[in-house]
Amino acid sequence: MRIDLHTHSNRSDGTDTPSELVRHAVEVARLDVVALTDHDATTGWAEAQAEADRAGIRLVRGIEISTRYRGESVHLLGYEFDPDHEPLVAELRRVLDGRDSRLPAVLARLAEHGIVITAEDVAAYSGDAAASGRPHIADAMVAKGYVADRDEAFNGWLNAGGKAYVDRYAAPLVETVRLLKAAGGKAVVAHPWSRGSDRVLTAEAFALLAEAGLDGIEVDHNDHDEPARRGLRAIAADLGLVTTGSSDYHGTGKNAAFCLGANLTDPEQFARLLGEEIL
Ligand code: AMP
Ligand code: ZN
Ligand code: FE
Ligand code: FE
Repeated sequence: MRIDLHTHSNRSDGTDTPSELVRHAVEVARLDVVALTDHDATTGWAEAQAEADRAGIRLVRGIEISTRYRGESVHLLGYEFDPDHEPLVAELRRVLDGRDSRLPAVLARLAEHGIVITAEDVAAYSGDAAASGRPHIADAMVAKGYVADRDEAFNGWLNAGGKAYVDRYAAPLVETVRLLKAAGGKAVVAHPWSRGSDRVLTAEAFALLAEAGLDGIEVDHNDHDEPARRGLRAIAADLGLVTTGSSDYHGTGKNAAFCLGANLTDPEQFARLLGEEIL
């Protein structure tokens, strides 16, 4: 049983269409279950579901919400919630608007350093996405020959503290856990011990989140080494939280280590999370 609970299509900053992603999940990665978790958007759900029905794979409808906790960026995965739940929709709109409205300031900073990219250049890469994120700006920089790949664009320019970094709105973490639960969904913290969020997501923080309704912790992720995975598994066991695993696939937007199925979720954990046995 092969279950991958965190992937991105071109409805956010992945490079596959939702249908291509589902086909790759079946034909290349041989997955039985795949979750589509685009950043702050559910616009890929319908297309992915139609392809999943054709291809005979279980699609989990998900999202990865950009949140903040104690000043650090934290990504929160949501699964099988009502996509029309008004308070949640309003919060996602704020995040997407924040991402879009930051674009001119980033382009101005780049221009100060002789890197000339227009909003139209970026739109060529964010056309199908719910908002223009830094990865799309990176794609435009690659296309114009300023950098070799997304990584170089982030490391040289776009990363927090970089020469062209501009902050944007992120949803408050604890309240967003509550929103997902109120919308009938499940909430799982994505790659909690990635750089930055490892400083604030302590055992005490997870206890607080569990109280707010958190269901699980994404443990098996490429950003976590073995000691991190052991530490997170211990916290999850202590608090009775589910543990998940995923690839965080972005198509060609991330390197091959992030291929579909690179990390998997245990079927028993999946059944605990979504209340459903996969046969
Ligand atoms: P934004 O939400 O627009 O601020 O962009 C952040 C997103 O960029 C993250 O959610 C990642 O998916 C992506 N990202 C961060 N660092 C890198 C990197 N070095 N290479 C490619 N994508 C990245
Ligand atoms: Zn991404
Ligand atoms: Fe993430
Ligand atoms: Fe992700």
